[in-house]
Amino acid sequence: MRLDQRDSYARSMETVVTDVEQDGDAVWVTLDTSVFYPTAGGQLHDVGMLLHAGGEARVVDVAVDKEAGGVVRHRVEGTQPGVGDAVRGEIDWDRRYRHMQRHSAQHLVSQAFLHVNAAFETRSVSLASPEVTIDFAGDPGDEDVTAAFALARGWAYDDLEIRAFEVDDADLGAYPLRRPPKVQGRIRLVQMGDVEIAACGGTHLARTAEMLPLLAVGRQRIRGDLTRVSFLAGWEAQALAQSLLEDVDALARSFSAGREDVPARVEALRSELQAVRFAHVRALSAWAEARVGGNAAQVNDGVLHLRVDAPEGTLVRDALAAMAEAASKLRPDVVTILGAVEEARATVLVQVGAERVRVDARTILKAALDVIEGRGGGKPDRAQGSGSDASQLDAALDAAARAAAEQVASARQDA
Ligand SMILES: [Zn+2]
Repeated sequence: MRLDQRDSYARSMETVVTDVEQDGDAVWVTLDTSVFYPTAGGQLHDVGMLLHAGGEARVVDVAVDKEAGGVVRHRVEGTQPGVGDAVRGEIDWDRRYRHMQRHSAQHLVSQAFLHVNAAFETRSVSLASPEVTIDFAGDPGDEDVTAAFALARGWAYDDLEIRAFEVDDADLGAYPLRRPPKVQGRIRLVQMGDVEIAACGGTHLARTAEMLPLLAVGRQRIRGDLTRVSFLAGWEAQALAQSLLEDVDALARSFSAGREDVPARVEALRSELQAVRFAHVRALSAWAEARVGGNAAQVNDGVLHLRVDAPEGTLVRDALAAMAEAASKLRPDVVTILGAVEEARATVLVQVGAERVRVDARTILKAALDVIEGRGGGKPDRAQGSGSDASQLDAALDAAARAAAEQVASARQDA
């Protein structure tokens, strides 16, 4: 007999073992009477203990065997009881109650969306974690979510009675079911006040107020033209709200400010960061222009090659990019080859001035990468790569400079 179906608030039972099956490493126990809910209809199974004269067994899984006429089987670990033994079963009530809150709330939320718009049909649900999700048809928007949760919360505050009862499938026409049954014969219905009625075999709260608070936490479009709405209910919603509040308070303390000042403080930090970034970019480009201008005397046959030390606190990548920008602006007549070392890797950048047509930065880069065992690529006017043999950077820059000089000379002849 399934006590879980008769009284969802029953937490324990006294019964006897009717069967014990070994299935590989797993031991499954069948009981004459059980309060344990088996995984079904999206609601997760109970866990708990079976206490007997020989010791204790933990119930770690509960499944219903449809082929064996709906027999409920309990997977146990620990000291298993034998057939005929008297046992006392106790479920993990906290876990069960959370599941009842999630599941009962999902009924009301699904019904509330239908009230907002008949197109918002529930297509699937997930009750496996504190964040319950429902996938809706009909593309509900943010305003629909707000309206539906206001409605569901109102029904919860009305503290409606929730009751489950069985009818013959021949009599189903008398009930305006939101969801048709998946089984035949005797059908179990659940009714919440006069707002929700559906065929359901799960465990439910006794009254709708027990699912409060209800906290909507997300809406996203997913594949198949569905919209996934996430929420938390009851104890789990309360715990989330409490922990978010504590996070905000910790943040407020770090600013030596009040909770309500946190958004303004974060906004001020963001503008400050933007100003600092802007100043940094300007300083870096001034530094790069000074470096390029200061090395004008090193330009040889239209080629400048330089080893660069990035200013402190600046990434090599950013320093090289700033140098390349400065070179393209100040020396359109020059092929600029830049090299730098960071964390034992050598990086080479080739920038071809706009006046140096028919010179390809990529073939010049390749001459350098062959020396430092590197990889890279880019466009005809700018190419970049890096390699692991940083000790050969100077040789690589020389090789690239020779390749560049050849290209410049041959382009000059063509012209
Ligand atoms: Zn249900």
